[in-house]
Amino acid sequence: MQSLKIKVLLVVVAFILFMLLTMAMYWWNIVAFRERLTIMDEFHDVVSDILETRRYEKNFMFYPAEPGSLGEALVYLDRAEHTVALLRPQIVEILGRGTYDGVLDDITVYRRLLHSLANGDKTVADSTRQHGTRLVEAAQALLKKKRQTIHDALDRILFMPLAASSLILILITAVYIWQARKMLGRLNYVQRAADGVAKGDYEAIQHLTSEDPISVMMRSAFQSMAAQLDERQEQLIEARKLVSIGTLTSGIAHELNNPLNNVSLTADTLLEELDDLPEEEVRELLGDIINETGRASEVVRNLLDFSREEERPLARLSMANVVRQTLKLVGNQLSLNGIKVDTDLPDNLPDIHGDMHYLQQVFINLFLNADQAMEKGGTLSVAARSDGESLCVEVGDTGCGMDKDTLSRIFDPFFTTKPVGKGTGLGLSIIYGILKKHGGSIDVHSEEGEGTTFTVCLPVLAEEEAA
Ligand code: ADP
Repeated sequence: MQSLKIKVLLVVVAFILFMLLTMAMYWWNIVAFRERLTIMDEFHDVVSDILETRRYEKNFMFYPAEPGSLGEALVYLDRAEHTVALLRPQIVEILGRGTYDGVLDDITVYRRLLHSLANGDKTVADSTRQHGTRLVEAAQALLKKKRQTIHDALDRILFMPLAASSLILILITAVYIWQARKMLGRLNYVQRAADGVAKGDYEAIQHLTSEDPISVMMRSAFQSMAAQLDERQEQLIEARKLVSIGTLTSGIAHELNNPLNNVSLTADTLLEELDDLPEEEVRELLGDIINETGRASEVVRNLLDFSREEERPLARLSMANVVRQTLKLVGNQLSLNGIKVDTDLPDNLPDIHGDMHYLQQVFINLFLNADQAMEKGGTLSVAARSDGESLCVEVGDTGCGMDKDTLSRIFDPFFTTKPVGKGTGLGLSIIYGILKKHGGSIDVHSEEGEGTTFTVCLPVLAEEEAA
């Protein structure tokens, strides 16, 4: 969080510095431009002084009787020479040292010619005129060049804000696109991680590998959420187990009651008729009592196995055994509700790696759901098959089935269509979690009014692991 704040601060400071620099450069350009304009006036002065010189020179040519004109011409020429000398750095900068010296030489020669004219030498009239014209052309060329440099400076001044704002725009767009991409990546991650977590698959959380502060924060938030959910899931499994035990109680009571009644009846008969009965029949009745007691203790053993608390390491298991054991737990309840059980559990199924207790819970929940879906009786079919890589058990019923809406939500925790007391909405989400832990999966197919089939798949134990 701290480094994120520092980064934001650095970006803001860099932006402010860039803006200040741009403004300073702009200001400097404007000041320089103003100076150039002032100098431009002086270039104008040179041109107009030389033009004035030429005007007086022409005057003298037309009216030689007025020698005062030449005096005026010389005054203007001196002024022009003085200004040219003042403008020396600018002229040298724009046109070079040679041009500057050339203009000064021209002025000197022109002055000498004007002096000769003043002294009455008519022979220099032509060359004076030619020199005068050359001087005017040179001064105008200077002015033109200066004007050009002013235009260039003006272009620069106009271009600068445009260039600076384009640069800022490009920078902001680039940063925006870069950040938007990052943000989209993160949102994608949040969606994937949230989807994964909703289904009990926490692997997606690990996929965010970037180390920038936001990603690190998000990852640690998701990881702590996953840890809490895991803990909650364990609690839910236990809670659901209690509910299942409650649901099972009636069936189990009946299952225990039957052998106990038989034992009691047989023992009564024995007590009353012990003396009259032949020894063979007495033995048979005692055998019955032993059998019935065995049945009762098997029921109790199954129940104990199911409700055992401790977490056992995953072990090699026969899926057919898991299913059979579980059917024994609920078999009586199913037959009481008029449900026929069809099993297809081939002998040659490969073993799987799992926790008997948890897998029993998976099938208990599936069988009890099927039982509740077939209120008027029906058939529960349990079939297992394997393609060598995974082993799948199909649990099908001929019950009420589900509509599309229900079907899309059945794995959500606490989603139930059953009345309070009958359903908690936890069974399937717990099954999902247990199967994920086993590296397996669950699939469902349902037709409203026709029935439902759940397919539970688990990876088969590899040969070397099995050995
Ligand atoms: P619960 O059984 O406590 O409601 P579950 O998570 O086991 O919770 O089941 C959620 C919902 O899925 C049930 O309320 C029911 O609507 C639907 N469902 C589950 N199994 C079946 C089934 N075999 N036939 C029809 N609906 C089923």
